Amino acid sequence: MSKNYVIGFPRIGEHRELKKVLEKYWVGNCSFDEVQNIASLLKQRHWNYQKNAGIDFISSNDFSLYDGMLDMAITLGAIPLRFRNQKNEELYFSMARGNSDAVAMEMTKWFNTNYHYIVPELSLEDKYRLNCEKIIQEYKEALSHGIKTKINIIGPITFIGLSKRIDRGDTYELFHNILPLYEKLLAKIAELDNEVLVQIDEPIFVKDLDAKVLSLIKFTYDKLASVSPKLKISVITYFEHSTEATKILIQTPIDFIGLDFLYGEKNIQSLEIIAKSNKKLIVGIVDGRNIWKNNIDKSLEKLNEISKIVKKDNILVSSSCSLLHTPFALKYEEAMDEEIKNWLSYSVEKLDELSLISKIFFFGKESLNENEMLQYKNNIKANTSRKTSSRIHDKSVQDRVNTITKSQRDSLYEDRIKIQKERLKYKELATTTIGSFPQTKEVRKARKEFKNSQITRETYKSKMKKYIDDCITFQEECGLEILVHGEPERNDMVEYFGEQLKGYGFSQNGWVQSYGSRCVKPPFIYGDISRPKPMTVDWITYAQSKTDKIMKGMLTGPVTILNWSFVRDDIKRSDVSKQIALAIHDEVNDLQNAGIKIIQVDEAAFKEGYPLRKSDIPAYEEWAVRDFKLSVSSARKETQIHTHMCYSEFNDIIKTIEAMDADVISIETARSGNELLKIFAKVGYKQEVGPGVYDIHSPRIPSVDEIVTQIKSLLEVLPKEQLWINPDCGLKTRKWEEVKPSLENMVKAVEVIREELA
Ligand code: GLN
Ligand code: ZN
Repeated sequence: MSKNYVIGFPRIGEHRELKKVLEKYWVGNCSFDEVQNIASLLKQRHWNYQKNAGIDFISSNDFSLYDGMLDMAITLGAIPLRFRNQKNEELYFSMARGNSDAVAMEMTKWFNTNYHYIVPELSLEDKYRLNCEKIIQEYKEALSHGIKTKINIIGPITFIGLSKRIDRGDTYELFHNILPLYEKLLAKIAELDNEVLVQIDEPIFVKDLDAKVLSLIKFTYDKLASVSPKLKISVITYFEHSTEATKILIQTPIDFIGLDFLYGEKNIQSLEIIAKSNKKLIVGIVDGRNIWKNNIDKSLEKLNEISKIVKKDNILVSSSCSLLHTPFALKYEEAMDEEIKNWLSYSVEKLDELSLISKIFFFGKESLNENEMLQYKNNIKANTSRKTSSRIHDKSVQDRVNTITKSQRDSLYEDRIKIQKERLKYKELATTTIGSFPQTKEVRKARKEFKNSQITRETYKSKMKKYIDDCITFQEECGLEILVHGEPERNDMVEYFGEQLKGYGFSQNGWVQSYGSRCVKPPFIYGDISRPKPMTVDWITYAQSKTDKIMKGMLTGPVTILNWSFVRDDIKRSDVSKQIALAIHDEVNDLQNAGIKIIQVDEAAFKEGYPLRKSDIPAYEEWAVRDFKLSVSSARKETQIHTHMCYSEFNDIIKTIEAMDADVISIETARSGNELLKIFAKVGYKQEVGPGVYDIHSPRIPSVDEIVTQIKSLLEVLPKEQLWINPDCGLKTRKWEEVKPSLENMVKAVEVIREELA
């Protein structure tokens, strides 16, 4: 009996083989054949991992050379006009990455994960046509290795919902142009065998859907599920509950319905109707988004709970979503502390968990062989150890969290800003930067050598200090007013702090695909967080000692640290966030006591932490604002607190941003003129604002005139007393040759404006 199910598997490879070969191919160092060879090898290996672990439902078409949404666009012939002179792999990679004649398609975050997909471009004029070669070929490929797969595709409602219209209008207007292609695709798939299972991913069903979109579900799945009697259709959702869509789906002739019971607790409410419908229920219970070992006893409890309503025969045990969002295999974590490692589980280990859970659930513990019994016992042990380990539970942190007396600055902005302006004496339209300066080869090399103990701490420090000196010299010569040290010692704005906080862990090989060939290696929070000693004070005070100008201290905020890490799942996220806030609070205090007068607390990922469901937003905003305020609550009134956010759309969240009560916020409006800034004026936002005046995401050097125009357009919206002038993000990814003239032009532009105003 087939009983366990994996929604999808990571594809980048346990040694990031796919990344490596793609990047080699893109620079012209290998042929496309080589790319395909590696791809075949990886697919085969990944299928075998699943098969050997005893997984019953294994996917094909979960592999992609770049991205699954892009693959679906190709399948449907949704090719933007600017790429139509190209074919095959040239076409594919041009759409993803652009070429000399055509800009790449846009990329955006896949729901609330850190994975980014390519946004399909649709237009009423386009003629869509089916191109299902890859899907068919991959199925046959698996079959040739003796594995009969289910075929994964992204569902039409999600595909259309995540696309954009280039001819203006609602993407769903194209629904009737696109749905017939899905029918054709399914008809093609039906030719493959006497019975084929197609997994249709509809994660958009977990969002708050409007009535119009909801009304498409019945029509769509009545059609798709009746294309051929040879097809079985499984509709999958993840990352949240999909109760509204489920109600409709059960009235269609689909065969399986997949729900996330970890991140969508409310799905429990759908059990009765699913039971009545007699459909198979795929129960997402092994976490596809985090790295903790499953608590098998707890999972079994939940499954038993579910099986009181849905009969066991109709249940499949599954990952909560594709395993794409977790790293590959723990066996490569050779340097990790054994106790901590024993709490973790990556994709390959999750397969074993699934297999074990389903075996116990369906056949009882007595069905386990010796090895499986051992695995099960070890799972219990690991979970007990996590519950009790002193490395996780730090009473002093907990006591401190429970006895916070001061949770925000005790002064009003209006009073603070007067005192700050007097003390800091910055002019109107004060110039500054966001923190980092170009991360040169030498800087990276020095950091790496220090990490690998190839150079001494002294040598390392002197190299960093030299970089800081150069940064300061440049900023002074350039005429910037509020300086930064340049962040050469930071590899990453979260990792840098994580490495110094107690309760944080790091992996050697915990790579997760972020987009295309790019991977990130998020640190993980396993225990109560505390700060054994100051993290930035030495560097910042060194920098301040080298200049008479004001040196801005640079920190990352609690919400961003949280959102860019794997977070422990044994306490609430908001409780973890509070602990981090306290650590940052101490750092702010140490910086100001060391004479630092302006401190920036970056919240680059504040917005991306927003929940998928509107009803959960108030709770998120409540603790996210609370913890930002807590993290700067040690700042005295004369200490100016800045924050930086890497986006420009504040329409929905402006009141929340205001409530964070930073004295100055820098944001990313450079690419949108003053349009998006209007919201600040509209709500009467009173704190100071530094809208980016040029886009650092491109190597282009903005001219003085251009920046003058930009500043003028900002002045149409906000008064000069309220404005700061800065680039729109940190400069670490740029080259000095770009940064120097750009900032010089920015400073000149401010001089021009000041003269005009005088
Ligand atoms: N201070 C950081 C930097 O300048 C901010 C980076 C970010 O916003 N992503 O690099
Ligand atoms: Zn930024």
